[in-house]
Amino acid sequence: MSRFSLNGRTALVTGGARGCGLAFAEGLAEAGADVAIFDVIDPVPAFFEISNTYSVKTAYYNVDVSSITSLQKGFTSFKRDFGGKLDICVPCAGINRNLAFLDTGFEEHQKLVGVNVMGVYHTAQLAAKLMIENGTKKGSIVLVASIASYMAIRSQMSSAYCGTKGAVRAMCPAIAAELNQYGIRVNSISPGYVRTEMTAPFPHLLESWKDEIMNRRVAEPEDIRGGCVFLASDASLYMTGQDLCVDGGVTKW
Ligand code: NAD
Repeated sequence: MSRFSLNGRTALVTGGARGCGLAFAEGLAEAGADVAIFDVIDPVPAFFEISNTYSVKTAYYNVDVSSITSLQKGFTSFKRDFGGKLDICVPCAGINRNLAFLDTGFEEHQKLVGVNVMGVYHTAQLAAKLMIENGTKKGSIVLVASIASYMAIRSQMSSAYCGTKGAVRAMCPAIAAELNQYGIRVNSISPGYVRTEMTAPFPHLLESWKDEIMNRRVAEPEDIRGGCVFLASDASLYMTGQDLCVDGGVTKW
């Protein structure tokens, strides 16, 4: 069997209703995994087509990752429906706000941290507990960071968002070190500029960002899904604690 195959594995993707999360969910299903998503909005129709297209099981749960009660309820339902099995977790749910550093209010900052940092951390924690409980030998957690963990987003006021993505990238090796004893690998992925609902409000920026990207093109969500499948699969068995930039070369140029 190919080392990229995820046949027989079960995956959970947060923020999988659309955008990057949906692309990751599709990629994992294409490689053979059953896929559940947690999100606060109903998935776009493309999500419901995944199970027919790839003959895998899919499920959607309405879960707010910034609430521990909601997360715990989501994991209980997921565990019931998927027989307690979990091999892959991709905490992808995230929000962005165009906030000037000097004007960023405490509460709006707290909301960003609640979703982008605490939501990611506690999703990974609950996933790891379930992986340990069901004794998977192929556990892989792929945290979704961003190029915003390396650099400012040009023409955007992004200090609070960049801080949350830096936290995700920084927590990755530390979580990996603690979970290594259970055979669970933890890596992060840092997408570059991707055309999604998150970036849609800034069409002029999408246009100007092209000039900063080595391959001169803003990514579509499907451009970044291979990186996630790679980190989830046995093809990356010797990688843990790493960050993988899938960014068209923007951080190297
Ligand atoms: P998006 O807005 O299209 O999708 C985000 C998804 O997360 C949505 O389905 C949304 O409903 C869900 N979500 C938001 N808050 C949630 C919550 N509290 N609980 C559960 N689900 C929640 O954005 P996207 O561009 O697809 O971003 C997905 C991830 O990728 C984010 O973590 C983002 O920071 C990261 N990212 C995006 C880009 C980009 O250019 N678009 C670049 C790098 C990293």
